[in-house]
Amino acid sequence: MISLIVPCYNEEEAIPLFYAATTEVLQEMKCDYELIFINDGSSDHTLSILKRLAEQDRHVIYLSFSRNFGKEAAMYAGFCNTHGDYVAVMDADMQDPPSLLPEMMHILEEQDYDSVATRRVNRAGEPPVRSWFARKFYKLINFVSDADIVDGARDFRLMKREMADAVVEMSEYNRFSKGIFGWIGFRTYWLPFENVERIAGKTKWNFLKLCKYAIDGIINFSEAPLNIASWFGCSMTGISFVFLAVIILRKILFGDPVAGWASTICVIIFMGGIQLFCLGVMGQYIAKTYLETKKRPHFIISESNDHSCCRMK
Ligand code: UDP
Ligand code: MG
Repeated sequence: MISLIVPCYNEEEAIPLFYAATTEVLQEMKCDYELIFINDGSSDHTLSILKRLAEQDRHVIYLSFSRNFGKEAAMYAGFCNTHGDYVAVMDADMQDPPSLLPEMMHILEEQDYDSVATRRVNRAGEPPVRSWFARKFYKLINFVSDADIVDGARDFRLMKREMADAVVEMSEYNRFSKGIFGWIGFRTYWLPFENVERIAGKTKWNFLKLCKYAIDGIINFSEAPLNIASWFGCSMTGISFVFLAVIILRKILFGDPVAGWASTICVIIFMGGIQLFCLGVMGQYIAKTYLETKKRPHFIISESNDHSCCRMK
């Protein structure tokens, strides 16, 4: 049995198309399946559409959040409520082509892999600035963290039960799934495909949200910013000793009076800036720690047709 996890936030236009296309593919595959739609606090008719589908089709399970918790929480809720031997995550907007599913399944059954992940080979249809930043982000995060994150990787992947269980075990509050998939390991086959544009509706991400997501990803999977702060501190202390020695020697050898109000102010402002920057970096980590220690649930399900579902975790 395959479980498909589909996070939906204001996807009233895309869901019927997604449902039709995916059902067709799954029926051709001749295996049992469940479609787990997570309504992430949508303000449009997403929930009523899901309810209607669930009435018509026993394969459809919907989990409806009490508010918008974000895509990461929606995916986690899905993972906590799957029953299949194989689990896949898919976007509702058809940017993750369902037509790839048979091939992914074939690879898992025939070859020695635990998951098949997908990677866009191009970013056609995306604003160039966004693509540029995305590429730089992947370079940076791979440089500073030990979670192996592939450029262009999508959350769309089919995995075996064992791997899905490992994802559920990763119960951190600040979630970054691309990093989590990389961190837990397992043998992964990368399947490249051409970028597909969203079939209907609008993207839920703006540039600012993506920047925040990128920074969160780095902070969640790397201590590099903290190390940089320490190195700044050490090198500044070293440089200041050299300066001190130069000033003392100049005084002893040439009897120079120490001049320079302007340079003093520059140094003070520079040091103040670096100190605030480092404090800010530390603050980011402390804020994350604070959120983790509160142990709040990732999601709250207010409504579902699966009465035994895990409503909070
Ligand atoms: N999504 C969600 N909660 C959110 C934002 C997005 O569940 O707060 C879902 C959305 O419905 C879609 C998927 O996450 O199925 C990917 O979102 P989108 O297509 O807007 O992102 P993009 O493909 O532009 O990166
Ligand atoms: Mg999309």
